[in-house]
Amino acid sequence: RRVTSDIKTLTEEVERFAKGKKLEIETLKVRENYRKEFIGNVSHELKTPLFTVQGYILTLLDGALKDKKVRKKYLSRASKGVDRLIYIVKDLDMITKLETGDLNLYLETFDIVELIQNVFDLLEMKSTKREISLTFDKDYPPIFVKADKERIQQVITNLIVNSIKYGKKGGTSEISLEKLKGDKVMFRVTDNGEGIEKENIPRLFERFFRVDKTGSRREGGSGLGLSIVKHIIEAHNEQIFVESVYGIGSEFSFTLPMSDEMSEEEIEDAGQF
Ligand code: ADP
Repeated sequence: RRVTSDIKTLTEEVERFAKGKKLEIETLKVRENYRKEFIGNVSHELKTPLFTVQGYILTLLDGALKDKKVRKKYLSRASKGVDRLIYIVKDLDMITKLETGDLNLYLETFDIVELIQNVFDLLEMKSTKREISLTFDKDYPPIFVKADKERIQQVITNLIVNSIKYGKKGGTSEISLEKLKGDKVMFRVTDNGEGIEKENIPRLFERFFRVDKTGSRREGGSGLGLSIVKHIIEAHNEQIFVESVYGIGSEFSFTLPMSDEMSEEEIEDAGQF
């Protein structure tokens, strides 16, 4: 009977081991597919601007160099293509760091109202050009949060730029802040732009996902913006939300923890007395 029981234990152990290995292989397969898909997407994204730049260089070498006016025009277009490549590579670098956990957050206390105002000033011209009225109430008192200022600036910029890019001519993009229970603050940007179809909403934060690929590329998008935004907010252990109705508009929002510590500026001010 002991031998039978030993064999049973052994069989169970072998089965457990085999099950574990099968799971390992499945995980590796998923990872491998993920990697292949990522490389496929990257080369696809890089191909278009690379061919554009190559096209201008070849035309210049083909004789266009001789004409001063044409030369300048083609060189400036080639340079724009290179700018786009740099932009994509920077986004790729950021997403890789975020996904592998290699990006350390530098947490500090800062006034989110002031940060938004700075981003607002930088983007106001872009919105005017697109005939979109960008608004942010100038009377907010300071609200101090504890977060990575540079990364949060990137998140806010991405969300506001999207609301302008996918907005309607003559439309609006409203930025607002709300203090929530539990010492949190909610940032919101609401537009009355093209909106997003229900079935696409769950895919918005996927890498390289765009509703309208040509439209997004024309606007200089890499399809990585929202994916980066989500990673940054989640790295802060906070949440990001989206509400959108196709043809009506979209609202993107996220939370941040308010800080009860004094900011560096406040400490400096206090030291003056
Ligand atoms: P992209 O570089 O294409 O802008 P994002 O990751 O920032 O990439 O956004 C992914 C897609 O989500 C966009 O291509 C667009 O289709 C959609 N999207 C993002 N923000 C908005 C918005 N405010 N209104 C409508 N669609 C949006």
